[in-house]
Amino acid sequence: MSAQALQHGNINLQTNTKVTSISSSPTACGYWLVQTDRGIIKARKVVVASNSYTPAILPEYRDQIIPYRAVACHIKAKGPTPLLVNTYALRFKDWDFDYLIPRPDGSIIVGGARSAYFRDKDAWYNNTNDDEVIEAAREYFRGYVQRNFRGWESSDAEVTEIWTGSEY
Ligand SMILES: Cc1cc2nc3c(=O)[nH]c(=O)nc-3n(C[C@H](O)[C@H](O)[C@H](O)COP(=O)(O)OP(=O)(O)OC[C@H]3O[C@@H](n4cnc5c(N)ncnc54)[C@H](O)[C@@H]3O)c2cc1C
Repeated sequence: MSAQALQHGNINLQTNTKVTSISSSPTACGYWLVQTDRGIIKARKVVVASNSYTPAILPEYRDQIIPYRAVACHIKAKGPTPLLVNTYALRFKDWDFDYLIPRPDGSIIVGGARSAYFRDKDAWYNNTNDDEVIEAAREYFRGYVQRNFRGWESSDAEVTEIWTGSEY
């Protein structure tokens, strides 16, 4: 969509540009001032879509928007495995569940692993660090499909990629 808007020449897209603050009130001419690390942008309307990072720009949301980290991974077997044709949620407790999305090549995306790190609150609560994966989650996903899916017990399926990010 942004590519189409750029083609029509009606937007100015500034990527890789960190917003550091937004003025707390508009100027006399009705412009909000958005401070970035590459200069100031003036705008009559500002839409903030920075997800769990919003309190860093708008501190007044610090008590309402509390980031937490989540972990997902990609699992793939080298040999043939039973084809999973549905998406799944594996719910172990009210707060503890994994979600699983099969891909057309037979590999699987799995997110969750909360039980592995839930008690280590600093590792996930009010934490936006996506530089490093929570190690306990990496351990949790080792042998995941072998433990949970019939017909996969002796597969050589293993985690090929694992990543983290924050949401709220
Ligand atoms: C590990 C993980 C797995 C997930 N799995 C799923 C899934 O399977 N299905 C699903 O539906 N959802 C999933 N989610 C949730 C989904 O990713 C989010 O709900 C979705 O990405 C939110 O989109 P968004 O555009 O609101 O925010 P984001 O995608 O977080 O985008 C926010 C943007 O704001 C930018 N930004 C932040 N601060 C600043 C700043 N100061 N200046 C400039 N830019 C800034 C960031 O760089 C980022 O590009 C998952 C989340 C995680 C962390």
